[in-house]
Amino acid sequence: MLPLPDAFRQLYGQPPRLFRAPGRVNLIGEHTDYNDGFVMPVAIDLACWVAIAPRDDRRLVVRSHNLQETVELDLDEAHPRPRKSWTDYVQGVAVVLQQSGRRLRGANVLIQSEVPIGSGLSSSAAIEVATGLALLNNSGEPMKKLDLARACQRAENEFVGARCGIMDQFAACFGQPGHALLLDCRSLESRPLPLPAEVALVICDSGVRHELAGGEYNTRRAQCESGVRVLARHRPQIHALRDATMGDLERDSKELDEVVYRRCRHVVTENARVLQAAEALEKRDLREFGRLMAESHRSLREDYEVSCAELDLLEELAGHSAGVYGARMTGGGFGGCTINLVEREQVEEFRRSVSVGYQQATGRLPKVYVCEAAAGAGETE
Ligand code: ADP
Ligand code: MG
Repeated sequence: MLPLPDAFRQLYGQPPRLFRAPGRVNLIGEHTDYNDGFVMPVAIDLACWVAIAPRDDRRLVVRSHNLQETVELDLDEAHPRPRKSWTDYVQGVAVVLQQSGRRLRGANVLIQSEVPIGSGLSSSAAIEVATGLALLNNSGEPMKKLDLARACQRAENEFVGARCGIMDQFAACFGQPGHALLLDCRSLESRPLPLPAEVALVICDSGVRHELAGGEYNTRRAQCESGVRVLARHRPQIHALRDATMGDLERDSKELDEVVYRRCRHVVTENARVLQAAEALEKRDLREFGRLMAESHRSLREDYEVSCAELDLLEELAGHSAGVYGARMTGGGFGGCTINLVEREQVEEFRRSVSVGYQQATGRLPKVYVCEAAAGAGETE
């Protein structure tokens, strides 16, 4: 494809402004965001790019280069309804922004994303945040980035109909080069954590996405909520699993269903691991960080039961490869990716050995991305 601004000119005959928002990978803290807990995402150097220029009418004409599809939306539509299509991500953001009192201007839009779509690296938040930023700027309507992150989450929750937490949109907005973010999903306070230069972030995409992912996600959320109801009977200060300790869980273990108990144990221990991992990073203790990643993977596999054979295999293969500090599944589970912290000099050997092992066992090659921590969303030249 032509560079995006050239492709835009060819398509619409206007010069565009250009915006980007990155994908993300979560180093540790899985299934903690909707429990008011802690997560540690990194914005990656794969981004969604949005080129935009104003129109004189009240329409949004939006083309996705990735999907080779164009849609026309009416900004004044009285009752906008989701179409169960990629266009919901774009329209949802426009709808939520207008509901928040911003008057959006009509626009021609061309979208192109480097974030692999549907692999767990949050191409969805990237398209939402990049589009939101583009629409706001095109309309001369400023908005704080935190409000933009919240608006994009609302669009995904309410218009697209996916119950995601705030992590993805937050990382897409606030990523910092060379840093991970420690994010408190309750207060939305965050702290940048420097990533040691000698280690690379290597993402292995299993290439599978098991059907049950969506339904199981909702079941896990319901199980966490039912755990909180039991714990709060004795300790009303517990509003979310974020507020519970292992001591609380032990005390109420007889009243908790066995499965619910294990789900809660994952969340409570995972929150503690995120905080320990942040401390380890600040001390540049990559061994300790890797140990916590391994514990996280085990807990997700055994207690939360959201891993799968392919993710377990990738994690195990990483353990046999030289120069690996840590490896774990990342994202919701039932397929998607693993994140691996690998010594830079060993990255090519890692790629080779994991690819060979994965192909021998499954007949398919994993996609491997070597990523750098990147900045959050913004306008570019
Ligand atoms: P993930 O966020 O892990 O990539 P999701 O299922 O949450 O997976 O979001 C993927 C969806 O986001 C796609 O199915 C598509 O509807 C939309 N999407 C993401 N990027 C693009 C793009 N460049 N063009 C059109 N739609 C996109
Ligand atoms: Mg997503």
